[in-house]
Amino acid sequence: MDYPLTHRQFYEGLKAGELLGLKCQSCGTYTVPPKITCAECGHTELEIARLNGMGKIRTFTVIRVAPEGFNAPYIVALAELDEGPWLMGNVEGLDVDDNVDGLIGRKVRVDHKVIPPLNYSAGEGVAVTFQLV
Ligand SMILES: [Zn+2]
Repeated sequence: MDYPLTHRQFYEGLKAGELLGLKCQSCGTYTVPPKITCAECGHTELEIARLNGMGKIRTFTVIRVAPEGFNAPYIVALAELDEGPWLMGNVEGLDVDDNVDGLIGRKVRVDHKVIPPLNYSAGEGVAVTFQLV
């Protein structure tokens, strides 16, 4: 079975300013990041779709002990995208200790940051980020 949208294509899309997902041909649900089946119904007929890259923060946590390559503290959030799926990413441009009250419900735009190769990675990585709007 072929992947309709690989993670590499997903990350290359982010780097080019596009949020790519998969639209189910059976139920119409969007799946992001890419999976081999629909996140809602498990159907395998999926087509690549360009999402508008906008959403709302639904929940978040503050990371105070960071893995290699990241600088703590930072915020990891789940945002509900306009098209429905929830996407995880880092919230950028916010002082973690002062401004997290009221974060849930804030509108965000999906962006990305490039993670340089680390000791235990297979090369450059790309992380989803959220910019408050
Ligand atoms: Zn489906």
